[in-house]
Amino acid sequence: MRSHYCGALTTDQIDETVTLCGWVDRRRDHGGVIFLDMRDRQGIVQVVFDPDTEEHFEAADRVRSEYVLRVTGRVRARGEGTVNPTMATGQIEVLGKELEILNAAETPPFQLDEHTSVGEDVRLRYRYMDLRRNEMQQRFIQRSKITTAVRNFLDAEGFLDIETPILTRATPEGARDYLVPSRTHPGQFFALPQSPQLFKQLLMVSGFDRYYQIAKCFRDEDLRADRQPEFTQIDIETAFLDEAAIMEITERMIVGLFDQVLDVQLPAFPHMTYAEAMERFGSDKPDLRIPLELVSVDDLMAQVEFKVFHGPATDPDGRVAALKVTGGSGISRKEIDAYTKFVSVYGARGLAWIKVNDIAAGVEGLQSPILKFMPEEIVTQLMQRLEAADGDIIFFGADKTAIVNESLGALRVKLGEDQGLIADGWAPLWVVDFPMFEPDSQGNLTPLHHPFTAPSCSVEELKANPATALSRAYDMVLNGTELGGGSIRIHQRSMQEAVFDILAIAPAEAQEKFGFLLDALKYGAPPHGGLAFGLDRLVMLMTGSASIRDVIAFPKTQSAACVMTEAPGVVDSAQLRELNIRLREAPAAADKAEEG
Ligand code: ASP
Repeated sequence: MRSHYCGALTTDQIDETVTLCGWVDRRRDHGGVIFLDMRDRQGIVQVVFDPDTEEHFEAADRVRSEYVLRVTGRVRARGEGTVNPTMATGQIEVLGKELEILNAAETPPFQLDEHTSVGEDVRLRYRYMDLRRNEMQQRFIQRSKITTAVRNFLDAEGFLDIETPILTRATPEGARDYLVPSRTHPGQFFALPQSPQLFKQLLMVSGFDRYYQIAKCFRDEDLRADRQPEFTQIDIETAFLDEAAIMEITERMIVGLFDQVLDVQLPAFPHMTYAEAMERFGSDKPDLRIPLELVSVDDLMAQVEFKVFHGPATDPDGRVAALKVTGGSGISRKEIDAYTKFVSVYGARGLAWIKVNDIAAGVEGLQSPILKFMPEEIVTQLMQRLEAADGDIIFFGADKTAIVNESLGALRVKLGEDQGLIADGWAPLWVVDFPMFEPDSQGNLTPLHHPFTAPSCSVEELKANPATALSRAYDMVLNGTELGGGSIRIHQRSMQEAVFDILAIAPAEAQEKFGFLLDALKYGAPPHGGLAFGLDRLVMLMTGSASIRDVIAFPKTQSAACVMTEAPGVVDSAQLRELNIRLREAPAAADKAEEG
């Protein structure tokens, strides 16, 4: 139907007759001449109709925003003074000769301009309209370029694209499962995969050696900001490669991707242990663009009587850490109050601080509500350790280690944002040497990664000291976001059984849930490992988008619903009966569906 995309026309087409298909972005009537901005996925071009082409002029006069048109006309240079430098096609315009209205449109529910201020719920309800906006089109064009580049890279490296089931058994990745009732097996349920983890491991047992899949994963998580119940992973598994080789290949993939799609040369990826990341940044995904670090001061605070500091400083599970903001003494009381509230979300019971007005004046030159609790010589040592200078502010966290790390880690990022301290550019790194397990709120050990991750010690050592054992897991982090994570897997049955045992999964339960894996480990499982990247998050970073919802064509809301299709929805009772399901309480809406 078309000869060119609207947004692709350039001065090269001057004097050519072109046929365009697209939507009316804007229509203007300039005293007898009609200007139509016509839009397609490539962009916008101006089409002019003058009354000479009578019949088509009339049609042009009738069209409104979002009408779908087919227009034939001649490309011409814009006259001097009418060139629009802010428009990609601003050098030219099309003198319209023929116009066919392919479809009319009602007035759009919201203005489709770039800075649309309409609420997200409206954008999501009319997502097909929202996606017409150039900003959104560009994001999905980039997303497609990214997946194509990934596929090309992995294909060239010998990876095979193999699909794994969506209707399956539970694959634990730390979230709740989405369940699908089985009609043919009354009372039984499939689980949607939280990841293809076990299938990709089994593909290694089968000898495929290098697998990848751009895979949908489903996790029914508690509503945390910017998560989606279904999301996409670039899922990778390899056999006979160790962690160094896996990190090398996948790092090369990401470096190549940034080069190819964004023309950005990523710097080298340092490797940092989990312990160091927590100690210095309070986070296992540190944003290295922010020049603030946590400094442990437990040894000093163990010497003060001030209980708030002394307690955690002497508790083996506690920590006292300081966070110095160079030149931050201008931060007002009101702002400090706001930061105190901010850290309380992470469980911190307060936020102590010291402002450094005149370091040469000793304690006299400092300002803080907590100084009276600290001997002068401790304060002096503290200032030396922190290399404090005039104009600095120092914040303190004192609590259980996990609370201090989480709250000061988050405060570090917040201060980075608020104080404009985040450096430009990209700061990637690998975080390695994760612990195998972490205690949950009841003190039971849970896997930090997933239960199929290999430890870096023997079965005996693992059994002897599970709480301190390290795993062969690795995460790729970019600008404070975890882009991907993976591990070398357990390929020996005895080790897998030992891990299940530590996780208090009894042999019968292990057999019931993961019998197929335990069986497979008996029949010649090769050493293997892999990782998965969160594609949505990667695209979000690479397109500079504020939310993963902006890079998913049809995302769910924060409450895990689709406002456009109104999913999830009620089903009629016949369908439930067929599935052998009776609801405990019929929702009001279900009655209506039945009536209807
Ligand atoms: N299955 C893991 C995840 O979804 C990734 C991996 O270990 O390869 O996080």
